Amino acid sequence: MVRQVRGFAGDGTVLDNVRAALAASGLQLDELAHRLREHSAQADQTGQIPEPFWSRDVVRALNLHLVPTAHGGCPQLESLAARATLMEHLAHADAALALALPGPGLAMPPVLALASPEQQRTFFQRFHADTPRWAAFAITEPDCGSDATAMRTKATRTAQGWVLNGTKCFITNGARSDQIVTFATINRRQGRFGIRAFAVAAGTPGLEVVRIERMVGLRASQLAVLSFTDCEVPEESLLARGDERALDDAFAGAQYAWDYFRPLLSSVMVGTCRRVRDELAAYLVQGGRPASPRCGVARVHARLLDIDRRITAAHLLCQHTAWKADNHIATSMDASMTKAYASRVAAQITHEALELAGLEGLASHPALEQCYRDAKAYDIMEGTGELQRLMIARAAQRAASLPWDAPATVSAHQRPAATPH
Ligand SMILES: Cc1cc2nc3c(=O)[nH]c(=O)nc-3n(C[C@H](O)[C@H](O)[C@H](O)COP(=O)(O)OP(=O)(O)OC[C@H]3O[C@@H](n4cnc5c(N)ncnc54)[C@H](O)[C@@H]3O)c2cc1C
Repeated sequence: MVRQVRGFAGDGTVLDNVRAALAASGLQLDELAHRLREHSAQADQTGQIPEPFWSRDVVRALNLHLVPTAHGGCPQLESLAARATLMEHLAHADAALALALPGPGLAMPPVLALASPEQQRTFFQRFHADTPRWAAFAITEPDCGSDATAMRTKATRTAQGWVLNGTKCFITNGARSDQIVTFATINRRQGRFGIRAFAVAAGTPGLEVVRIERMVGLRASQLAVLSFTDCEVPEESLLARGDERALDDAFAGAQYAWDYFRPLLSSVMVGTCRRVRDELAAYLVQGGRPASPRCGVARVHARLLDIDRRITAAHLLCQHTAWKADNHIATSMDASMTKAYASRVAAQITHEALELAGLEGLASHPALEQCYRDAKAYDIMEGTGELQRLMIARAAQRAASLPWDAPATVSAHQRPAATPH
């Protein structure tokens, strides 16, 4: 018989603060998590957010959960560390529903980085509402995902504003959003410096939801294909802080979004891993046998401990990157490493859990299979694992040379002295 061993549940103090702050605005976090779990299988089947979620207070608090304090958001949820803790907790209940909850989502960072104070005010004001409000971030296109700077969606200036033409795909919550922060190029030959960002309102003539993809996992987050056909938007939709630098380098706003969201998304992955670990332990504690007859009790415990070790490492990496971001320390590389590590751990753990539990475990704990499918998407979204590893390798190549790496032509007495301890 396998003893009950509780998995690591993250930083209780931060979670308690988040819980108290949300309760003050009318949202009982554990009740919400309970409802997410209750509707997890249904949302996985239908790709829809079930109706019973939306009481007025819950909606308002969710709408505001990524809104900066300066625009009326909750001060206790302003830090990335608190937001990562919240996402880990909700994803432990259900990852797809956690990613589908209302709020500005991935559109928040580029608006903060690129928009004027007036544009920011207008954008965030929308989330002070009693009906669910989403925003989306649209950069990926059918022919360019990893190499986003090669985008084809074209922005042409007109006397009244701009006309957008092109297609965006895999846009999270794209069909639900009433604002879509869309990246388009004014001149492909200028590469990243030709890219501009526009806040496009849903329902603008020429903007159409072509379809919602049938996904293997994370179905409730509804990835949409959006087409822009002679879509006319006013001058004010161009996100422009008012200084030329931000306008010329709108792509930096997208990079800021990825740097900000990679630790958040990685926390979602950690939540999935914790759910899988709990389901697996519950199966075994309730008397379920490992699929392999060669896997004895000691081996099962060893594997659970090894799963715990990796979950803890991924959790700490998320929190460390979030802490750095909260302290205004550059995090691009940390964000890439966190995402690359957490997605790999999620893929390994969901796979190992299926292997350990086997068909019998799967029959009594179907969430193991659902989480395995969800984890497939983690490697791809917000930059694939290969691309993260490529960026890490490039950064390593750019690193300053070390004393022992001096060119061969430098004579021994010219070499820099070793750093004293
Ligand atoms: C769940 C989910 C949510 C998403 N949400 C959004 C969203 O809200 N907004 C949005 O704009 N996009 C979103 N995306 C899209 C996502 O960002 C892209 O799918 C991702 O960047 C990869 O692009 P791609 O699918 O075109 O793959 P490709 O770029 O075509 O890559 C295909 C394969 O080639 C590899 N590859 C590509 N280039 C290189 C290289 N130079 N070296 C080595 N290997 C390489 C990749 O690693 C991958 O394995 C989402 C995707 C998913 C799965």
